[in-house]
Amino acid sequence: MQARVLAVANQKGGVGKTTTTVNLAAALALADQTVLVVDLDPQANLTSGLGQKPAGEDASAPLTVFDALTNDNVPVLDDYLSPTSVPGLSLVAADGSLAGAELVLAGLERRERRLRPLLHEARRRFDYVLIDTPPSLGLLTVNALIAAEAVLIPMTCEYYALEGLATLMATLRRVQATFNPRLGVAGVVLTMADLRTNLGQQVAADVRNVFGGAVFETIIPRNVRLAEAPSHGLPVILYDVRSRGAEAYQTLAMEFLTRTRGAAAAAEGMTQRG
Ligand code: ATP
Ligand code: MG
Repeated sequence: MQARVLAVANQKGGVGKTTTTVNLAAALALADQTVLVVDLDPQANLTSGLGQKPAGEDASAPLTVFDALTNDNVPVLDDYLSPTSVPGLSLVAADGSLAGAELVLAGLERRERRLRPLLHEARRRFDYVLIDTPPSLGLLTVNALIAAEAVLIPMTCEYYALEGLATLMATLRRVQATFNPRLGVAGVVLTMADLRTNLGQQVAADVRNVFGGAVFETIIPRNVRLAEAPSHGLPVILYDVRSRGAEAYQTLAMEFLTRTRGAAAAAEGMTQRG
């Protein structure tokens, strides 16, 4: 078993990175995949959205991603894993300490490659690893991009959706040119869509013009259940399985599986031929 490790990234805030990480991961887990989600955002929305309380003084609580980034010894994955309410879905949590990580990392050796060792073991034990990143292209996001095989880019169907994309693509190219030549784009997920409006359709068409086949067919609609679920500490699929949001993320998971399996089969064929 060799996990596909994906960084969910877009430096624009509030485009659905965390919502996509939680709900795609939960839908994959309910489709019998083993999935690890890693919270690399100091806001810790992924951690709280999965119902995880801050560890505080609890010495028996799992270590957080901050420990993995800042400790020099080889991390033992089991020290970091929390179970979630979804069977097959595990979490590496973040807490407020991560807010100081950029500063701490800046003074460390290998500061861009600090997440990779933790994921070494995760690659063998999980089918998929999804890393939620903060709305910036700082060292935390760069660590995710270097640890990942591909980036998944959520984008809203709004007029300004494509703004700032050049900066994201430049960062991807820089990471490819330095520490991670194999980094690819796993796809673009259109989120919070209101396709009843002309604007929504126009933006979706614009994004497809730029990214072509990399854009997932499945479009995530605006759906209040998706916004409510985190306050109950649940993925939408457990909060309201009949909602349009839950259906959309299940459809996305099926499309995602078809794509990644297709890509894996193609790579396998190439290795056999080569
Ligand atoms: P940040 O950049 O701050 O980390 P983000 O990119 O992770 O933000 P989310 O937190 O996933 O974005 O989403 C932003 C807000 O929009 C949240 O309140 C979330 O619950 C809500 N939201 C996300 N997707 C949808 C949707 N499809 N329909 C309705 N609300 C949504
Ligand atoms: Mg987020």
